[in-house]
Amino acid sequence: MTPTPGPFARRGIANLHSHAFQRAMAGLAERQTDPGDSFWTWRETMYRMAGRFDPDTLHAVASQLYAEMLEAGYTTVCEFHYLHHAPDGRPYADPAAMSRALVRAARDTGIRLALLPVLYMTGGFDGRPLGERQRRFGHDVDAFLALVDALRAEEDGALRVGCALHSLRAVPVDAMHAVLAALPRDMPKHIHIAEQLGEVQDCLALRGARPVEWLLGNAEVDARWTLVHATHLERGEVEGIARSGATVAICPTTEANLGDGLFPLRPYLEAGGAFGIGSDSQVSVSPVEELRWLEYGQRLASHHRNIAVRPGTPSVGETLLDAVHASAVNATGLDDGDDRVTLDAEAPQFAGATADDVVDRWIFSGNRPLVREVRVAGARVVADGRHRDRDAIAARYRDAMARLLA
Ligand SMILES: [Zn+2]
Repeated sequence: MTPTPGPFARRGIANLHSHAFQRAMAGLAERQTDPGDSFWTWRETMYRMAGRFDPDTLHAVASQLYAEMLEAGYTTVCEFHYLHHAPDGRPYADPAAMSRALVRAARDTGIRLALLPVLYMTGGFDGRPLGERQRRFGHDVDAFLALVDALRAEEDGALRVGCALHSLRAVPVDAMHAVLAALPRDMPKHIHIAEQLGEVQDCLALRGARPVEWLLGNAEVDARWTLVHATHLERGEVEGIARSGATVAICPTTEANLGDGLFPLRPYLEAGGAFGIGSDSQVSVSPVEELRWLEYGQRLASHHRNIAVRPGTPSVGETLLDAVHASAVNATGLDDGDDRVTLDAEAPQFAGATADDVVDRWIFSGNRPLVREVRVAGARVVADGRHRDRDAIAARYRDAMARLLA
């Protein structure tokens, strides 16, 4: 039976941005390789790890990740998936083999999956071909549409297939238009955008506009769109995203880890913009940490407290969680209304709690996991804080890691 929502029983949380394979390198890119280390040197480490995966290791790593997500209170994940082909760039016998490994991991663990196959065609705004280590990511438009079609045959209430454009630098303009024209209008569409200043500069130089400005002017961006990061925005872009109805997927722990920059949350809230959170590179798999650092980043930059509030909602935790819930259906295309996360009402963090302060206590006190039970579509997947298959999944993950690191 699904428990009635109360102060300790909350709707499940949607994770709007995940690259499952990166779970295997969390914690392995924190040693200086160059005094100028940046997103771009991190990406080299990431490409080396990406080059080692096959469908079996991807299934094992994604299963571990999705079990961790469920234990943390995420009940839906948007998988921004570009690891499509064999390491030499040739499609597997089943071109959807890597996608199906993710679908299997989601079904095995019980998390809802919005699978977003990624179109990735060029290595930069100048249209240069993919580099050697990017070959397994690439498709032409027809092969990409065939992949999306094949996966859509598997859709049900726990699986939605959408589409992702890797970024403006990776998708030529005519390919973007061809794909958007061929796919259903109501399909969720995600794109990495304005994460790095270098990308903003290249876009200005080669397309004559900033990335978000360019996208808003050249695609029919609406509520089915999710803009991932959108870190570097000018005022007009903040207002333009808010007006379009699109969601921004903010990934605070990854953006901090990669040194991306800070999302302009206060002006975006004032413009009425929609947003959610994503675990992205998996350096943290916790909605608590994403929401906490979303607010803390703003405090550090502004020298003020309690930034994420809305008229009538003075609680920062409630404001953030409400926003995450409000954007979920548009961004994922999945109805998660029946999913419940029940917090541990007996935990010391909740001593003397009232309905008004439960969420703030959850998000802003301590580090002990407070999720006790998770139900997805009524099925109990986490009990007493543990995923139902935690030990078996962790054993397969250790085997996969031994192979990936060999
Ligand atoms: Zn990403």
